[in-house]
Amino acid sequence: MSPDLERRLVETYPKLFSGYGAPPDKLPMAFGFECDDGWFDLLDSLCAQLTMLKSGAEDSEPLPLTALQVKEKYGTVRFYLGACTAEALILVDFAEAMSAKICEACGTGAAHVEQRGSRHSAMPVHVSRATQIPRVEGL
Ligand SMILES: [Zn+2]
Repeated sequence: MSPDLERRLVETYPKLFSGYGAPPDKLPMAFGFECDDGWFDLLDSLCAQLTMLKSGAEDSEPLPLTALQVKEKYGTVRFYLGACTAEALILVDFAEAMSAKICEACGTGAAHVEQRGSRHSAMPVHVSRATQIPRVEGL
């Protein structure tokens, strides 16, 4: 994900991304958001929902959630949380399911495409960008 968009997520949800910038041997979140920009809105919406979850009754403290890792895997977004609740996991599962329908590169609707034996959520025209595989002109 581009540094500007990563910074927006980290600054908007500082508690959720408290592991951002940690030493890589401590927390995978140190590597940042290992997916492309097309999933920014999806992740922003997921984070907004997660930070609204309460630890108990309606007037209780927000659930103390921490993201351990955010990445693309097998064409969908994976959002790994530390200790969490079933309610949080339902939101994460929903975002993962939605990511299969959203182009990882540009954020519009997309179907799964196959490239080099792996699966991605991107329009064919954006597969190279979404997978960080350099496009070689003339091939
Ligand atoms: Zn696209």
